[in-house]
Amino acid sequence: MSDCIFCKIGAGDMESDIIWESDSAVGFRDINPQAPTHILIIPREHVPMIADANEEHQELLGDLILTAKKIAEQEGIAENGYRLVFNNGDHGRQDVYHIHLHLLGGRQLTWPPG
Ligand code: 5GP
Ligand code: ZN
Repeated sequence: MSDCIFCKIGAGDMESDIIWESDSAVGFRDINPQAPTHILIIPREHVPMIADANEEHQELLGDLILTAKKIAEQEGIAENGYRLVFNNGDHGRQDVYHIHLHLLGGRQLTWPPG
């Protein structure tokens, strides 16, 4: 999608701090980090939100989670733990409508979320 900022980041058409690339996914640092380590993992394919996903996206979604796990190890936060978050839609506080998985770590996170 030409007007999607995460499609542009995935295609290298927009500046970002990319720390992971595979055929199917890209990981880059969030521009407004909420924790010492805050990475966004996106599929290269444009799917707006979790609510749009179906059985065809099973591999794509599983890939995001396993990629996050590998990035957590690369970032040195795997041992202490971390959080993975998909925001979905208005009440989920989703701002960018290209599926992305937040990887947050590097400090003690609190619960419940805001
Ligand atoms: P959402 O609220 O949609 O789950 O999260 C979107 C995230 O994307 C936010 O944490 C926001 O800081 C991040 N973000 C928005 N625009 C950009 C950008 O242009 N570059 C990067 N690296 N992150 C962005
Ligand atoms: Zn997109």
